[in-house]
Amino acid sequence: MIAPAAMRIESHDLKAQYLALKAEVDEAITAVLRAGEFERGEELWRFEEEAAAYCGAAHGVGVGSGEAALFLALRALQVGPGDEVVTVPNTDISTVAAISHTGASPVFVDVDEQTHCIDVAAAEAALTSRTKAIVAVHLYGLPADLGRLVPAARARGVAVVEDAALAWGGELDGRRVGGIGDVGCFSFAPHKILGAYGDGGLVVTQNADVARAVRLLGGYGEPFRESMQGPDGTFTLLAEGYHSHLDLLQAAVLRVKLRHVDRWIEARRRLASVYDEAFAGTPVRPSVPPSDATHVYRSYVVRVPERDRVRALLAEQGVETLLLYIPPLHLQPVYESLELRRGSFPVAERLADELLCLPLYPELPDDIVREVAAATIDAVERVS
Ligand SMILES: *Cc1c(COP(=O)(O)O)cnc(C)c1O
Repeated sequence: MIAPAAMRIESHDLKAQYLALKAEVDEAITAVLRAGEFERGEELWRFEEEAAAYCGAAHGVGVGSGEAALFLALRALQVGPGDEVVTVPNTDISTVAAISHTGASPVFVDVDEQTHCIDVAAAEAALTSRTKAIVAVHLYGLPADLGRLVPAARARGVAVVEDAALAWGGELDGRRVGGIGDVGCFSFAPHKILGAYGDGGLVVTQNADVARAVRLLGGYGEPFRESMQGPDGTFTLLAEGYHSHLDLLQAAVLRVKLRHVDRWIEARRRLASVYDEAFAGTPVRPSVPPSDATHVYRSYVVRVPERDRVRALLAEQGVETLLLYIPPLHLQPVYESLELRRGSFPVAERLADELLCLPLYPELPDDIVREVAAATIDAVERVS
């Protein structure tokens, strides 16, 4: 018994993060409240600039959520009815919902066994004359293989959208995710690596036209930053847009957190290496990132035999584990009409049968990580 029943080891702990930042966060929130502006203003423009610069992108546009970022990015790329968009089945439903909501058809392809991210050869094989975009998900914080995907897509005139909701700060060959494909999309939901106290999202891109289109569509048809109010007081509406803003309270909180996020990513990577060391030479198989990729460990996932029994044994010990994006979307009732059966994507299905996300957050003490690792190894030995 590594923890008394009352002392659960949870997957996340946002209270610890807040307490560490309390003075800075409280001050930032109070400043917004005192200024009395909540929907457009300096805090947002500054955050957009700082966040885009962080990702190595020329433009950043704050939006209402990660799903909105994906949807508006696809719309800005002129994806719509009759088009196909290629993506993976082991992701958050919002990746695929964003595609469907444009009127385009999602086309699932299998993933790579090592990275759990899109299989580039499978994506290439799925391209048709109707394919407009590929949405590559940087799953669990590990960047997808954009080094091969982006040139392959460009050669076919297909855009690459990065779903970087789980991978703030992740890198490929020294370049940060988000700024590598045609458009990068982030979520600031509270449990993401860079999380707000509510909902928020961001689109980053090198392309000024795409950024402008996202701003226009997300701002009800008014380019949100420069108001379209004329000298006579009337408004000119350029598009039938959506209501999707990153509000100033969230932008102010995110600006504070942006100053700390690299330290948190370092802590996540270090704790991941504590797990990795503990699992070396055992039947617990951690994921092994490719050498050119920097994994930011939004989730620490391992593959274990008899996963459900291992998970139950860990729960008995007070260790909370998560099953993220399991079962894969093609086996969920919502996508029944695609008529994809078990066997359609063998790698994604095998991973879904064996994966377990162990607790990992920056404030988690090393000795707890070692205890969770020992309990996991013990559980695997008991079920084998
Ligand atoms: C969280 C998440 C999203 C959606 O973000 P929301 O802000 O919750 O809309 C999209 N894709 C992935 C991979 C995610 O993890």
